[in-house]
Amino acid sequence: MDQAMLSVVRAVEAGATTMKGVIDATGLSRLKIERALSALEKQKLLVRDGQGFRATGLPKTAPNTRQCGSCNACCDVLEVAAVDKPVNQLCQHWQTGTGCTIYDRRPQMCRSFVCAWLQGHLDDEWFPAKSGIIVHFSQDAVNVTVDDHCPDRWREEPYFSKLAEWSLNGIRRIGNRGYATLVVSGANRFMLLGRTVVPEPTLFGTAFLPLTADTFRFWKATSQDHLQRLHERIAEIERIRQEFGSCVIPGNEDDDPQAPYRPALLRLSGHV
Ligand code: SF4
Ligand code: SF4
Repeated sequence: MDQAMLSVVRAVEAGATTMKGVIDATGLSRLKIERALSALEKQKLLVRDGQGFRATGLPKTAPNTRQCGSCNACCDVLEVAAVDKPVNQLCQHWQTGTGCTIYDRRPQMCRSFVCAWLQGHLDDEWFPAKSGIIVHFSQDAVNVTVDDHCPDRWREEPYFSKLAEWSLNGIRRIGNRGYATLVVSGANRFMLLGRTVVPEPTLFGTAFLPLTADTFRFWKATSQDHLQRLHERIAEIERIRQEFGSCVIPGNEDDDPQAPYRPALLRLSGHV
């Protein structure tokens, strides 16, 4: 269940029975809500009838008995543009002892934000006030934001193995709504491919090929065309692997192969 579906589920469970009610409760666009409603209906988790929306035996995604308690990490670490709050700077509206001083008129982002720990998806060592790591789900990504007081915490255990596991799940679900696992730590951005860390992924995408069960060789694309060429090369390597059981992976991260690759790959791999 993605973040939009989860938000809609919560809104309906909380008593929103109309489109307007769900929009008010979630802050999502009508289109996103409509998509979420359709997906929920298909999964028989929600019905629409003359009385509006009704949840039907919604699964307990996770027992959500947790409370933020002493944590204010999202008011400190995340960016909230609506109140001019940059990353890693405590919000101007936060006051010790009081909490959010504009609680009743806090921005929509603050109203709807629920981290993965609070949702019950992570063990207690992930409590953001203790771990310095905030995880939250968006439509196509697991987003990991790290407190700049401990910028490498996400590389430590048990955090890294869990993130690598999520990343592999996201990669395997390609074609069935895969997702990316992204880490923001200070000014640095990373993408995880299992246990392989891709620093500063580009907007054009990253092509990758499995090396072991949880590590990958990757190439960062510099344009749409480049991504296309990289995918062609990977497809050729995979075909040769299937046919001959192995294939050399030539070149380095930055090379820009031109098709066709097959004769060169076969020669390099010792298959001709
Ligand atoms: S980071 Fe999570 S637990 Fe901490 S205050 Fe925000 S929502 Fe609550
Ligand atoms: S406006 Fe309130 S809830 Fe939002 S970041 Fe600032 S202190 Fe936190």
